[in-house]
Amino acid sequence: MPRFFRDRTLPARCPFCRGEISPPAPVEGGLWYEFDGGFCRCGAVYALDPTARNGGAVLLQAMLMACGGDMDKVLSLSPDTDYDEGHVHRYDGLNHRLEPQAFGTLYFIRLREESGSGHSDM
Ligand SMILES: [Zn+2]
Repeated sequence: MPRFFRDRTLPARCPFCRGEISPPAPVEGGLWYEFDGGFCRCGAVYALDPTARNGGAVLLQAMLMACGGDMDKVLSLSPDTDYDEGHVHRYDGLNHRLEPQAFGTLYFIRLREESGSGHSDM
């Protein structure tokens, strides 16, 4: 492992639109939201697992955010038909960069809206 490559950090990007995302922040809107997260301008939502141990809970939060907190809607969704899921690994929440040594994971969810146009209410 060559030490002189240690500045190979990258900006955190949305896996769907490749746009740079804002740093995850506390999500308002309910007691379900215990992890930091955010919204991409392409309609994707994301939540941060800072420890790489909370995976399922963080993914569930991202899905709840995508569904506006509607758990019934979350449970009605099917992977690969109703939504797309993306992961960004090696995320460093302190620097908001991707680093080879970091072990945070960003979970992204983007619903496939067959009908209606980009409606979003924050
Ligand atoms: Zn995006």
